[in-house]
Amino acid sequence: TDAQLAAGRRAYELDRAHVFHSWSAQETLDPMSIVKAEGVHVWDADGKRYLDFSSQLVNTNIGHQHPKVVAAIAAQAAELCTVAPQHANAARSEAARLIAELTPGDLNRIFFTNGGADAVEHAIRMARLHTGRRKVLSAYRSYHGGTHLAINVTGDARRVPNDDGDSGAVHFFPAYPYRSYFDSATPEEETERALKHLEDVIVLEGPANIAALILESIPGTAGIYVPPPGYIEGVRELTAKYGIVYIADEVMAGFGRSGKWFAVEHWNVTPDIITFAKGVNSGYVPLGGVAMSEAIYQTFAQRPYPGGLTYSGHPLACAAAVAAITAMREEGMIEHAAALGENVFGPELRAMAERHPSIGEVRGAGCFWAIELVKNRETREPMAAYGGSSPEMNELVGALKAAGMLPFANYNRIHVVPPLNISEEDARRGLAIIDEALALADAHVVS
Ligand code: PLP
Repeated sequence: TDAQLAAGRRAYELDRAHVFHSWSAQETLDPMSIVKAEGVHVWDADGKRYLDFSSQLVNTNIGHQHPKVVAAIAAQAAELCTVAPQHANAARSEAARLIAELTPGDLNRIFFTNGGADAVEHAIRMARLHTGRRKVLSAYRSYHGGTHLAINVTGDARRVPNDDGDSGAVHFFPAYPYRSYFDSATPEEETERALKHLEDVIVLEGPANIAALILESIPGTAGIYVPPPGYIEGVRELTAKYGIVYIADEVMAGFGRSGKWFAVEHWNVTPDIITFAKGVNSGYVPLGGVAMSEAIYQTFAQRPYPGGLTYSGHPLACAAAVAAITAMREEGMIEHAAALGENVFGPELRAMAERHPSIGEVRGAGCFWAIELVKNRETREPMAAYGGSSPEMNELVGALKAAGMLPFANYNRIHVVPPLNISEEDARRGLAIIDEALALADAHVVS
């Protein structure tokens, strides 16, 4: 409507006057106003509709404005908006029960946070108190959140300005077959060498000093590089061998994104802790949390846990989680995501890779895919340098938006990460938009 469009333009002006944005040089920004959203679509202030192939920041796993979740939030708001964390509350108790039911093994105790970064902070704090050790191992290229410790365990250069030299974070090279740090020729070799490297790091850092290893089960922001067979199992074995708490960070990969409730299920592995956020309630109200094993729980059975949040287990967020999880189950969204990965995204993206010389590799599972773009398939020179953008990538993203798609783009990659309940028709429509726009990227290929 005209009122929505006027509101969108006003939002833009006020944003530019007063809103400070994440990760950005403020005056280089040109934010798109979103005035409306429904299912897999969003509308901008000019009334243009976009197919949301980003799920925002890969969090709207059930799409936008799911009616059952909107109704549950409204009902909870009418009944009881907020209670302090020390009280028991039906929405929180039921959300914890459902999450405990979905997580593997004995991860049956849930500490709720406001989002992913604070889930990571608390998971590490628990691991340190549980082990009496301090160091934390994490992978280069990983992303674990923007708060102090979470950004320090993050494995990209964004941690550098935040590093006070005392975080206890130690980084290792992850398995990443396409850009192997170990010169591996096969996935099997990558697994073997990456695990050998990890064990060397553990031994050289001193196992008696290492509280936790935190790893994204499928690294998300850094490029959805699905670990090669045996890697996650190996990580589980090494952490168990050296008494290190294994924290699987499933903030992005969890809650159905990869076609399983949790990505660790692809390898039948049970970590000691799972951190979650995003898809737990699709971000309709901020929520994250830590699911912990019985052993971790027992550390705090008689001794106080030194940590907490005013909004831990906020009723509106938890009611949204209960409704979102229930809708995902009733509507078979996880199975649907897995089938789309098997039958649509996988085969179509691989076929696209045949057609487009700019595609270096496609990889993923469920509704969690990356297209890695290169200037040269032989040298694998990326279409934008790691940590940066490039005119070529900006041109491609511009073309996708012009064609009515909201893409998730990061450096030299386009991620295909739509809501899990996207129809096959919309999934194919989005892929067709990418297919067409890739002609632009192909034109920049040098051989
Ligand atoms: N961990 C992973 C794997 C993530 O992908 C993210 C966010 O993208 C986070 C942690 C941080 O979550 P939040 O932004 O909710 O703090």
